[in-house]
Amino acid sequence: MENINAFDVVKQQIDRCAEILGLSPDVTAMLKTPMRELHVSLPVRMDDGQVKVFQGFRVQYNDARGITKGGIRFHPDETIDTVRALAAWMTWKCALLDLPLGGAKGGVICNPKEMSPGELERLSRAYVRGVFQFIGPDKDVPAPDVYTTPQIMAWMMDEYSAIAGKPQFGVVTGKPLATGGSPGRSDATARGGMYTIREAAKTLGIDLSKATVAVQGYGNAGYYAARLCSELFGSKILGVCDSKGGVCCKTGVDPDMAYACKAQTASVCNLPGMEHISKEELLELDVDILIPASIENVITDKNAPNIKAKIVAELANGPTTPEADDILYKNGVHVIPDFLCNAGGVTVSYFEMVQDFYLYFWDETEVRERLDKKMTAAYHSVLNTSQEYKINMRQAAYLMAIERVVEAMKFRGWV
Ligand code: GLU
Repeated sequence: MENINAFDVVKQQIDRCAEILGLSPDVTAMLKTPMRELHVSLPVRMDDGQVKVFQGFRVQYNDARGITKGGIRFHPDETIDTVRALAAWMTWKCALLDLPLGGAKGGVICNPKEMSPGELERLSRAYVRGVFQFIGPDKDVPAPDVYTTPQIMAWMMDEYSAIAGKPQFGVVTGKPLATGGSPGRSDATARGGMYTIREAAKTLGIDLSKATVAVQGYGNAGYYAARLCSELFGSKILGVCDSKGGVCCKTGVDPDMAYACKAQTASVCNLPGMEHISKEELLELDVDILIPASIENVITDKNAPNIKAKIVAELANGPTTPEADDILYKNGVHVIPDFLCNAGGVTVSYFEMVQDFYLYFWDETEVRERLDKKMTAAYHSVLNTSQEYKINMRQAAYLMAIERVVEAMKFRGWV
């Protein structure tokens, strides 16, 4: 990952969009500024008896359209600007999918790979104590993001409920089923992305049963993406990678074997019988579909000219820099932009909120059907907008999302 400030990228993207929409400088300035942020210090007793103080954040970027929504990331490279960028993207994501929600994001600077389950639980509970006044089922609802899990969500919900003095299942989403989670939430990010890939393939006339795929990142989104590409479409997974490196194989990588290998050895790199490649090489593999599924700024002006994929399906948030975007567009690569492609996670999170509010739960088939409907509609409206205005898919997504947020801000009398 290059050292690019993700929030600078957000501001550049807003400027590009403001120009097309003819937004006034005051509206543009508001869109470039988070509404509220909270910085907290979290003292946590470590297993060795020492107390370590972690830095945590929660940014509520814009609540013009409703309760704010967005995950919490536990990551050693977390910065306030990354959280701001991710919170902005959540705002556009919820607006694009027409969910009645605003956008937020949280983060803690920590390395979960070096922490025990007990330490992680104490950190998760400390985070909730730190932001208790700021979040709530009718205010701001966190969820999982990079390196946070359903178990962490359950601890957070438990801590919040203990302080509130009553069960508050709706305070976070992405919980385990036994504690108010929604069926279909675990693979929702990847599955939502699959619906957009399916539609993109129809647009471009690609036969997915003969398509090849490379997956960059092998966490929740990456693993399920690899698995669902082969399960739903019969596509061949040519290569996968994680933060330690990658593997590829002409006859295909088995997604579940790669998952088992990562679970046992901490990396997909150790999968036997594979050719070893770097995570940079993976992005440039000769495939039909490239799925970046890890973190920001992995596709830059340096490697964008070498990308051979016909479709780049951004399951990660912010994987492509604006300069790289221009190059991909010029080269005719069909980019399914992040806040469209990965919106399946928050869409099923929204379904989880609805089910928690109503105390009535749907089955998995119903969740998947509703998700398909939302993702397919969003994909086609972005495609139509991009064709109508002759702009790339990301600009089209921005245009639609920002127009909706500005409309709400105007009706509320903010601008
Ligand atoms: N962290 C996920 C995202 O970036 C999910 C957010 C949510 O479910 O609220 O979209």
